[in-house]
Amino acid sequence: MTVKKSKPILPPAMLGILGGGQLGRMFTVAAKTMGYRVTVLDPDPHAPAAEFADVHLCLPYTDPQALQQLAQTCAAITTEFENVNADSMRWLAKQGVPVCPSGDCVAVAQDRIVEKTFIRDAGLSVAPFIAVKTAADLEGDLSPYLPGILKTARLGYDGKGQIRVKTAEEAHVALSEFKHQPCVLEKMMPLVCEVSAIVARTASGGIACFPVAENEHANGILDVSIVPARVKPEIAERAQVMAQQLAAALNYVGVMAVEFFVLEDDELVINEIAPRPHNSGHYTLDATLTDQFEQQVRAMCNLAPGKTDLLSPVTMLNLLGDVWKQDGGEPNWGPLLNTPNAKLHLYGKKEARPGRKMGHYNVLATTAELALEQARALHKTL
Ligand code: ADP
Ligand code: MG
Repeated sequence: MTVKKSKPILPPAMLGILGGGQLGRMFTVAAKTMGYRVTVLDPDPHAPAAEFADVHLCLPYTDPQALQQLAQTCAAITTEFENVNADSMRWLAKQGVPVCPSGDCVAVAQDRIVEKTFIRDAGLSVAPFIAVKTAADLEGDLSPYLPGILKTARLGYDGKGQIRVKTAEEAHVALSEFKHQPCVLEKMMPLVCEVSAIVARTASGGIACFPVAENEHANGILDVSIVPARVKPEIAERAQVMAQQLAAALNYVGVMAVEFFVLEDDELVINEIAPRPHNSGHYTLDATLTDQFEQQVRAMCNLAPGKTDLLSPVTMLNLLGDVWKQDGGEPNWGPLLNTPNAKLHLYGKKEARPGRKMGHYNVLATTAELALEQARALHKTL
């Protein structure tokens, strides 16, 4: 069957999503707001998206019957995470349903070796790296990559699956710790800061990029996103151009996040991509006319991307499970909710664990700096 890519998909069509975590939940809310119906596939009975979805298929991502039902009932299908089985997505596409992003694009983002090679071959800059498929790959001259970070090629997130190494010996030890699974060894870069750009591209080639966010991490997890990023406007513009070039090179359809390192001399290096909306784009829920989840709906339905202009400087602060009381008691939401320029978003997760993303809030102010200060002050009141 051929896919009619150019035809827009209109409400009340059923949209499908693989994964029902917080990103799936915010996608579902956006789609429902626009009048679409949503089917979520997620094996977790308490999946955050299930609260809003019309249909929750509580089954594994590779379950043939679940995939069959998605193919039969959905007008288009998307995903909320990169570790979804790319073959499941390719199978769905073969049934004639538009799948955005494609299984091929997801496969690129799933594997750091494939991803970094693709980015470099597209003429965009990445940190110096080598693929480490076996210990023999660590035998040559490693000086261009040291001191460096050994990262597992697959399944790393929030700083997991990474070990910093100074010498070849340490790289060997790290590879053993990863049980000799395929890795990349990447040179440690002197970061001035980190930024990200989120781009949406439709099957007809319509493309739009959100304002660039400056991202600060704590313990490997995103802590705050500050928008506009405190970099020269020229750097932010270049990040947007690079993100759009990469989306076009991938023939990408959907929403994609591109993470960058900003180096001395205004150099920009692509760190990694996420084939989906991104934590660093949650500020768009309150500070741009179109948010990244509506943009995901628009891209998969082949509607024109919505306007992405920043309406106000903003800082997004992540709420991790650490903020909840030891006995599971709720944080003190009063001061935050009584702040007129702060917007709380909770994901409805039952259990708060340290490091678990439970929600976030956006603070809008006259400058990003003031928004950051106020966001930090509010965190102390929780
Ligand atoms: P994850 O999938 O966990 O987000 P990343 O590759 O983005 O993995 O690494 C997490 C963080 O570690 C980055 O945001 C950055 O702060 C730091 N980091 C990763 N690679 C490098 C590098 N080559 N040089 C300097 N810092 C790095
Ligand atoms: Mg990252």
